[in-house]
Amino acid sequence: TIYNFGSINLDHLYQLDHFVRPGETMASNEYQCLLGGKGANQSAALAKAGASIKHVGAIHSSDKIILAELESQGVDVSLVEQLDVPTGHAIIQLTKEAENSIILFPGANHYLSRERVNSVLNKATTDDWALLQNETNEVDYIIQAAHSRGVKVAFNPAPMDVALTKSVLPFVSLLIVNEIEAMDLAGVETIDAAAQALPEMYPDLAVLMTLGSDGVLYFDGKGSLKVKAFKVSALDTTAAGDTFIGFTLSALLSGKEISEAMQFGCAASAICVTRIGAMSSIPSLDEVSEFLIA
Ligand code: ADP
Repeated sequence: TIYNFGSINLDHLYQLDHFVRPGETMASNEYQCLLGGKGANQSAALAKAGASIKHVGAIHSSDKIILAELESQGVDVSLVEQLDVPTGHAIIQLTKEAENSIILFPGANHYLSRERVNSVLNKATTDDWALLQNETNEVDYIIQAAHSRGVKVAFNPAPMDVALTKSVLPFVSLLIVNEIEAMDLAGVETIDAAAQALPEMYPDLAVLMTLGSDGVLYFDGKGSLKVKAFKVSALDTTAAGDTFIGFTLSALLSGKEISEAMQFGCAASAICVTRIGAMSSIPSLDEVSEFLIA
């Protein structure tokens, strides 16, 4: 089982001619409310890939529809708390030029208590994994608490906090970063420099570094491996990373070799980028299997 200590967001998207200016009140006739957050997206991807996934998080008690939605994708939501605190959300203004302006309110995503973390982890076994992103509170505490119980940790430090990430790396089994996070972590300015510096900095850590349309690079103490991205015509790369993480991790946990797991993740995320949307663009297991055969 994977315990994903992850964010759940309700994103409110407004299509506008221009961003609201100081003092201005503007009507928007285009509105969408979407379920997201890196945590929820990764849980959905894991579930669709066939993994046993328990999401650990929190929402406001009036947003139960979120639980039904995640459950319909195969996510176990029994560890999602219902609080009297707003569900995490983003207010997104989108212009015709595809520029965005975002207010992010973490809300219930920042209400994980240490007590709860321990009570969840006390039920985990050493065959289980803890997965984290950086959109919840107590990230460092959770990682250390999991590690001290022999529960392996996969960490996707997004949004990147360099100091926090460096401090928890000794307790992480698998680090998953995109090229921008990799450059930040390595303190370098180019992708090539990051690809060179990170394996030198962390020779014993298993790292998956996603490279957008270039694919993904894996390295650990024993060597490195690159898998190219599939050639598709990309429409919207939102949730590509989350899809990659979900499918790759699911394959690894089911005993697949790293190269095969990476192929699986690349295939799933290649399908994801051909579709507009976030959670809704994560493919099903059947779609990924068909894609790989074709
Ligand atoms: P993030 O969304 O976190 O920035 P990336 O952009 O690196 O992550 O994308 C994650 C994975 O999605 C890549 O490793 C790749 O397999 C796949 N991917 C992303 N963009 C494309 C693309 N244009 N064509 C095909 N695959 C892509």
